[in-house]
Amino acid sequence: MKTVTRILRSTEPHWVGNGFPVQSIFDYHRAGRDLSPFLLLDYAAPHEFPPGRERRGVGTHPHKGFETVTIVYQGELEHGDSTGRGGVIGPGDVQWMTAGKGILHEEFHSEAFTQSGGTLEMVQLWVNLRAADKLSPPGYQSITAAQIPSVPTGETAGSLRVIAGNYNGAQGPAHTFTPMNVWDITMEADGPVKLPLPEGHSAALLVLRGDASWADHKQAKKGDLAVLSHNGDAVAWEASAASRYLLLSGEPIDEPIVGSGPFVMNTEAEIRQAHREFSRGLF
Ligand code: MN
Repeated sequence: MKTVTRILRSTEPHWVGNGFPVQSIFDYHRAGRDLSPFLLLDYAAPHEFPPGRERRGVGTHPHKGFETVTIVYQGELEHGDSTGRGGVIGPGDVQWMTAGKGILHEEFHSEAFTQSGGTLEMVQLWVNLRAADKLSPPGYQSITAAQIPSVPTGETAGSLRVIAGNYNGAQGPAHTFTPMNVWDITMEADGPVKLPLPEGHSAALLVLRGDASWADHKQAKKGDLAVLSHNGDAVAWEASAASRYLLLSGEPIDEPIVGSGPFVMNTEAEIRQAHREFSRGLF
């Protein structure tokens, strides 16, 4: 059984651009080894936006060397990138973008959401790439809610949406470079949850609603992340009714992480190169 090694408490929100009031749940400076291949997770807790005219968000910026995964729980976002791809994603949808050798993109509230206003809730997760994959061509997977299989969780009533990886025979639609699971879990009743996870995978449980508790009295509340041991072939916790979790697990990438802002590479020289390429307009 994987055990809770520590619980990272949520931080005060800060704004990303003028569109996303996010809490930094973890980043690779604080949790790189424990949580590899996951680099960073920002959570925008439910926030009410009034109707407006000007789209809020983040203008054109680069990324290189990893993937960004955006999961929308409430509201609607629009994305466009230098490969010419993009689109609108709403509740239950996921956008899986491979920055690879370099991409420019922008992230905004959608036109419709800007005009109507409403509640925005989302997660952005950064997933590392192996050195061998960092210079892959940029890619974009638009994954709609309808493409994501939803499977019952077992003895306690709840459902598990497989965004990436697999659970109980259901395969997630996301193409990933290395093995990982990204599961969106909603529990209806309180009670025990037990889910198989690969031995040796890093794993973490983010609490979005309700809480999660363990027999050793550890407890994670809304906005907390329980970091789990790599050892063990399952995770189990006590769920509260009407709870929602994001469960991550992945095969660790045992390589140096050198990052600077929107670039995550393996060496300082590669970071300098990324800055040079960006300033020369090569993305
Ligand atoms: Mn970005």
